[in-house]
Order: sequence, then structure tokens, then C-alpha cells
Amino acid sequence: MDTREIHIKGGSLSGLTTAISLTNHGIPTTVHESLSQTSMKTSNTDFLSILRAYNKRDPLDELKEFKLNLKPIKSIRRVCKINPEFSETVINRDYHIVRVGVNAKDTLQNQLRSKALKSGVDLKFEAKGNVNAEVIATGTPKTKINIFGQGYCFEGLNIEDDMVYLIYDDEIAPRGYVYIVSDGKEGTLVSVNFEKSKFPKTKELLDLAIRNNPFLKRVTKGAVVTGCISGGGYYSRDPYLELYDNKSICVGEAAGLQDATRGFGIRYAILSGCIGAQSIIDHEDYCLLLKKYFGDEFKNNYIERAKLQSR
Ligand SMILES: Cc1cc2nc3c(=O)[nH]c(=O)nc-3n(C[C@H](O)[C@H](O)[C@H](O)COP(=O)(O)OP(=O)(O)OC[C@H]3O[C@@H](n4cnc5c(N)ncnc54)[C@H](O)[C@@H]3O)c2cc1C
Repeated sequence: MDTREIHIKGGSLSGLTTAISLTNHGIPTTVHESLSQTSMKTSNTDFLSILRAYNKRDPLDELKEFKLNLKPIKSIRRVCKINPEFSETVINRDYHIVRVGVNAKDTLQNQLRSKALKSGVDLKFEAKGNVNAEVIATGTPKTKINIFGQGYCFEGLNIEDDMVYLIYDDEIAPRGYVYIVSDGKEGTLVSVNFEKSKFPKTKELLDLAIRNNPFLKRVTKGAVVTGCISGGGYYSRDPYLELYDNKSICVGEAAGLQDATRGFGIRYAILSGCIGAQSIIDHEDYCLLLKKYFGDEFKNNYIERAKLQSR
């Protein structure tokens, strides 16, 4: 087996996952994260995100097949979809609620970080030098942002905490939606905006809706804001064309591996990390392995997105 050292740029979901798989196979791995531990903690608010099931497969079971056990905050089977007329539909669907960020012990990043350190990954922070990395896991390329998320963490949201709420209203989240979830104590409310020309207005539209929209007014009444959330995302029309940067492989959002319909990238970041590592371990073609695993998923999500954009 090849045991040359592997270098990975980016120390979040996709980078840490790749590193864990490699070191567990005896390949020495160094992760180079550009931020310092302190700036990661102070510049990021932990928040709740949705880990969605695809193809009727539980994403946590998919990860277990790659020998990766991650714990969600909770699992939810009820989703409340709300449209502009405020009619509500409750459907049964499996979602896991996960915490992302670097502060609380139970965030996905910290679960992965502790596994990485246990398996012997060399984790370097403030790594700004020009490393020749075999794996690029640097997240959304700043020049390619085509999804924008903005929202708040709250204490005391008035929602049922065994439900995910999805609000579809172009006046609030253009071509996207607002998601609201709670762990029973802290809740997260995020607007996911897919209309580039309206990215600068994301916060303004959300704040206006929190003040005026009857459902959001009720949900946030008496709740206290404990943090702000903001960030861009990138879905590629065809991520299979963006998997290589010279001789390096790109995992996660660096390659636009995202659900173009919904802006959910956690499952893709982690699974592409596992599959990227597999390609290095077994000297197999990364693109072929990804195609074998995901098939037409990205194409189908993009077709849905194109329909939503042209509504
Ligand atoms: C507000 C918001 C809400 C979201 N909600 C959901 C959700 O509910 N469900 C879901 O599935 N997805 C969600 N996503 C998307 C999901 O968070 C991303 O798809 C996922 O984090 C991508 O993981 P990644 O490891 O590829 O990139 P990132 O998590 O962005 O990590 C990239 C890392 O690389 C580091 N880095 C960058 N450049 C360099 C460099 N040159 N050298 C070294 N290090 C570098 C960064 O500091 C960072 O730590 C959301 C995104 C946002 C912004």
C-alpha cells in the first residue's frame, strides 16, 4: 500500500473526513486550515442544520458504511411546509438535526476533529503557506457563490421541537426557503436565498418578515437572538467537471458538490471526503467512484433548480 504523506487544504467537514479515512488506513495525513482556532471560534456562531435523507437512505447509515459514526442532535420525522398563503402541510420525512460550528462539543466539526486527532491526523491551523496539497477541501469558492444563507440563533422560539419548518415564499427567501428548527432550547432560523441579484437584501427581507409575517411573528415572539448566521454556498451545474485542480482532487463544496435544489451540502461534503480518501487508498479514479455512488443525483437536483429559477 502507498503510504506517502497526504496534505489536505481545509479543516472542516470534507477535509477532516478525508483525513480520518486516510489515517485510519495508515496513510500519514496533515490538514492545513487557514484560520486560527481562536478566529474560528469567535467568527462563527454554532447553529442547527438539516441532514436530509436521499434515495430513502438514512445519511448516517450511509456514513456508517464508510466506518464513520456521527451523532445528530436529534432525528425528526415531521416536516411542516408553509406556503405564502400560510397553508401548512405536515409530511413525514426523515431528517437529522445536526449542530455545525466549532464551539460546542457536539458540533459535526468537533466530532470529526476529535476523531481526526485520535486517529493521528496532524492538524495545522493558520496554515496560510503555499502547500502542494493532494486534496482541496476549502469550501465555497468566493467568486462562485450562488446560494446565500442568513439568519439567527434564538432562545425560546415558539415551535414544536420535533418538527422542521420550511417556509416557501419568494418575498422572504427569493427562489429558496426559510428553515426553522430547535433542539428544545436553542433554535435556528435561516433564509436560504438563490436569487443572486437579491443576495444583498437577504437580511433586510428576513428582518422585515420577522416583523410583519404572521407566522414568523408568532414563532419569534418573546424569543431572544443569541447569534447571527451568514454565509455563501456553491452548487455546480455538473460537479463531476470540477473534481480536479491540477493533480489535486477537490472534495465538498470546493467542487460545487451541493444539492442545487435545496442548498444542502453536509452529506455531500462528508461522503465526498470518504470517497476521495478511498480513491487515494485504492488508486482508483475519484470521478468514477463518485459517479458510481451518486449517479444522476446532481443532474436531477440541477434540473429542479433550473425549474425553480425560471418560475
Ligand atoms: C447559513 C448556511 C446554512 C446551511 N445549512 C445547511 C443545512 O441545513 N444542511 C446542509 O446539508 N448544508 C447546509 N449548508 C451547507 C454546508 O454547510 C456546506 O455544504 C458544508 O459546510 C461544506 O463543507 P466543506 O468542508 O466542503 O466546506 P466548509 O465547511 O466551507 O469548510 C472549508 C474550510 O476550508 C478552510 N479554508 C478555506 N480556504 C482555505 C485555504 N486556502 N487553505 C486552508 N484552509 C482553507 C475554511 O476556513 C473552512 O474551515 C449551509 C451553509 C450555510 C452557509
